Amino acid sequence: MTEAGAIWRDQLTADERAALGRGHGSIPEPHPDILIVGGGIMGVAAAAACHEAGIGSVLLIETGRLGTGATGGATGLLIPEPHQWSDPEPLVDLERASLERWRELEQRLPGGVGLVEIDWIGLAPHPGGFAAHQPPAVEWLAPGQVEQLIPGLARSMEGALIRRQARINPLRAVTRLAAALPAVATGVAATGVTIRGDRLVLSIPSDRVKGHLLVTEPTSVRLPGIVAPIATQIEDGRLLAGGTFDIGDEDPAVQPDVIESIMDGLVVALPVLKGLGIAYQWCCFRPRHPDRRPVIDRVPGLDNAWLTSGHFRTGILNAPATAAVLARWISDSQPPAEPGTWSATRFSRPAG
Ligand SMILES: Cc1cc2nc3c(=O)[nH]c(=O)nc-3n(C[C@H](O)[C@H](O)[C@H](O)COP(=O)(O)OP(=O)(O)OC[C@H]3O[C@@H](n4cnc5c(N)ncnc54)[C@H](O)[C@@H]3O)c2cc1C
Repeated sequence: MTEAGAIWRDQLTADERAALGRGHGSIPEPHPDILIVGGGIMGVAAAAACHEAGIGSVLLIETGRLGTGATGGATGLLIPEPHQWSDPEPLVDLERASLERWRELEQRLPGGVGLVEIDWIGLAPHPGGFAAHQPPAVEWLAPGQVEQLIPGLARSMEGALIRRQARINPLRAVTRLAAALPAVATGVAATGVTIRGDRLVLSIPSDRVKGHLLVTEPTSVRLPGIVAPIATQIEDGRLLAGGTFDIGDEDPAVQPDVIESIMDGLVVALPVLKGLGIAYQWCCFRPRHPDRRPVIDRVPGLDNAWLTSGHFRTGILNAPATAAVLARWISDSQPPAEPGTWSATRFSRPAG
């Protein structure tokens, strides 16, 4: 991931930036009760949930700096309701529950997690395009209403408005969650696992989908929130655009032609943006399982190890709810309501 190119790091204070690589606390003796491997959003959220549940001493280890992986390059949108058009119901339920948890964390953690409440508007180039699957939270906008909200649109379009979604700087959220932990070690990799008894056989198919993003220089053009598929209004009058799905591109480098096509798309939609500069450009990889649902499970064959993976395009959103599921499972031996939906072995089961 080319997180160095993302805007998120520059939005942090110098102390928060340093905290991503510094670690803190001391390693519990003789060993931690809970060891969390991986300091992306899932790891820090899971560690925070376990610590809060009072399960025992918690140590988080991260091979590089916190947020080095997909987390530091994500768009940071927390938008469960629009996902009703694309995600299966159990996933949307998890997303909704998780947005509520993000809101609780915003209230509860010192300084909050940097959550910004924001409206989402989906533009429908084909009139009535969304109507067949209209979720209850949606307000349908006629072209005149869309024009009032987004002056300067090149094409007259209907729209779907969903209020009170959210966005977050993923790295700020990581620093705020990590600050609440007793012990964080960065630059420390898990290099092996010793199993007592049977051999561990764990095979979960996965791939990754690259995405490019850009942030513009500040502009006087104001969008009324997240305008899909054009851009999201962020701090300092900047626009955040992209989130491409570059299937098959395994090159970790930013492809200038993809960035150019994102910027071209912005200008085609809003011609007034012609000539606006690009301040940040980056790419990263979404972790994905074949059915696009995450794994949230106890490691098959073991009774003291759990894993979560493959959160694809909603891992930032889903981190607090996933963490809560894991913490409850670990502390109270209580698996999630529909364990099969998230199981690590579902890929090896015969279909049907
Ligand atoms: C372009 C793009 C846009 C996205 N937009 C959104 C969005 O708007 N909203 C949303 O909710 N999600 C979004 N996502 C998805 C989201 O970024 C991911 O689902 C999420 O970040 C996954 O988090 P994670 O903690 O599981 O993985 P990661 O962030 O990859 O973290 C895993 C960590 O584990 C560490 N690690 C690996 N191996 C070891 C080891 N052996 N020992 C110690 N540490 C180790 C890595 O260094 C890494 O830091 C987007 C993703 C992309 C690529």
